Amino acid sequence: MQDCIFCKIVNGEIPCSKIYEDEKVLAFLDISPINKGHVLLIPKEHHKDLFDTPDDTLAAFAKTAKKIAKAIEQATDADGINLGQNNGKAAGQEVFHAHIHIIPRFSDDGLKHWPGGKYKEGEEKEFAEKIRSKL
Ligand code: 5GP
Ligand code: ZN
Repeated sequence: MQDCIFCKIVNGEIPCSKIYEDEKVLAFLDISPINKGHVLLIPKEHHKDLFDTPDDTLAAFAKTAKKIAKAIEQATDADGINLGQNNGKAAGQEVFHAHIHIIPRFSDDGLKHWPGGKYKEGEEKEFAEKIRSKL
């Protein structure tokens, strides 16, 4: 993909602080970290989001994300690690080349968790049924 910033990183046209690579994936530091040590893990091939990424690449993703999360935890002395994956503009995706955010978290980093909502009477069952019917 000509205009994709992450493809340019894969091709070496834009520099990055590389953390890990193998034949399928590349991991590098996010240029604008939520906390220092925030890593992006991407497939080397261009896939725009989770749905566009083949299952075997996703399997490599999960395995590598775990390995990198452990390394970040040890290297930054993090109290926890968030894995985040945005799909679609409404979900906060800005770069349309699939990626996982691996973010070190600290008890005192001041970041807020997502607010939790509430289901109305009968809605929880309805949503569970709707989603199950699409599997
Ligand atoms: P998204 O919002 O799409 O889930 O996340 C995209 C991420 O890519 C952002 O956290 C942003 O800081 C990071 N990013 C955007 N451009 C670059 C770049 O040129 N280099 C690096 N290392 N990270 C980038
Ligand atoms: Zn790309």
